Amino acid sequence: MSTCSKTAQYFASIRSSAKALTAFFEAFPKGGDIHHHALGALLPEAIWAKGGRFWANAEGQLSASAQPGFLPLYSYNKSEMLANWSIKGASKEGRAQQFFNFFGKIAPIFQGQEGYWLGQIAQQAAAENILYVETLIEAPAARQELWSWTQGWSSQPANFEGWTQSLLHYGIEDLIQEVLAEIAGWQADYQALEGPKAQLGLQWYAVRTYPLPMVFAQLYLAFQLAQQSDWVLAVNLVGPEHAELSQAEFEGQMQALRYLKQLFPSVSLALHAGELRPDILAGRPYQNPIEQAIQLGAKRIGHGVGLPLERDAAACLQMMKERAIPLELLLTSNAFILGLPAEQHPFSTYLAAEVPIVLASDDPALLATSLSQEYCLLAQNSQLSYEDFKQLSFNSIRYSFLSEEEKENLEQELKKAFLSFEDRKINPINH
Ligand SMILES: [Zn+2]
Repeated sequence: MSTCSKTAQYFASIRSSAKALTAFFEAFPKGGDIHHHALGALLPEAIWAKGGRFWANAEGQLSASAQPGFLPLYSYNKSEMLANWSIKGASKEGRAQQFFNFFGKIAPIFQGQEGYWLGQIAQQAAAENILYVETLIEAPAARQELWSWTQGWSSQPANFEGWTQSLLHYGIEDLIQEVLAEIAGWQADYQALEGPKAQLGLQWYAVRTYPLPMVFAQLYLAFQLAQQSDWVLAVNLVGPEHAELSQAEFEGQMQALRYLKQLFPSVSLALHAGELRPDILAGRPYQNPIEQAIQLGAKRIGHGVGLPLERDAAACLQMMKERAIPLELLLTSNAFILGLPAEQHPFSTYLAAEVPIVLASDDPALLATSLSQEYCLLAQNSQLSYEDFKQLSFNSIRYSFLSEEEKENLEQELKKAFLSFEDRKINPINH
């Protein structure tokens, strides 16, 4: 029997043991984690360790300077403070809101230290046998600048050409150069880091919970950065899809993306689409975000939970299969934010329709999960075989936004990692 089929046999034998599955998937070579938010990957322990110069309030909101209601971070009880920075400390009530609040709490410690934190992310990933992380990031100072510029711009009617002229008038060209210089600095920090580290690529995001002119301004910056920086590989749209403004401006946001895709045809787009369930929509109409994302040319669909609500789910599945658009499956995230247990997730519908799937962690530290744990969770909630899981691992390289050459290199590395994994003692049947 080959080492591969022995490993498959071993895997089949441990499916009901959570402990054995955890050990198995920690060692299992996981190609990439390609739906991953940098801010959501800051481990509470690491935030604490780096937070010596910060102030905090009792809810864990950090601040770089003293302000009313804030005390020096280290005057708090450590474990109580750490509970503020992951869902371990969250109550079941209003969990979507709590989740999205987490980012603002810890953002001050990330700002200005991006290179350091990206290095941490790359090292954590390598320790977990992940070869590549495609992480979502932005520059808050640039967002602040765009926010100050776009105040008072009217959304009615949407005027993408006029808004572009205004952005140029305010000096967006200079802002783009400043952010490119910042990104180059992060990249230099990351490259200088010694020891094992995963390869990194960035997706630049716009936050969708703003008035349309501001979403357009962020997207314009994101497309420019993806066009000009070799480290920014794609554009994405983040923030709660169910929020009032995200819903009210949804059509306009899709039009903005369509407009910018025509202006920057070579820029890749991935979209959070259908991170929605009827109860979280609270009576607002479902606007077919999965179909819209596909029509826009998104190359990957994040979450896709809303599939059963789409007006033509079968057509969505057909298009995703034909165009090889994968579903980014984010089980723990959906369980927490949407209250959707893994066994009720529509991933099996995607699988049955032969839509490619990539498994990712979304916000591993905030969600107190890891890519390895996501593999475990899927193993416990599906009949997928060892070969299927291997396929998922390779998918996460194949559907990344790396160049063909970089993908080939990583695929070779992944093949080697599997040869050594399948020969290891984790599998007692081998030895
Ligand atoms: Zn996400």
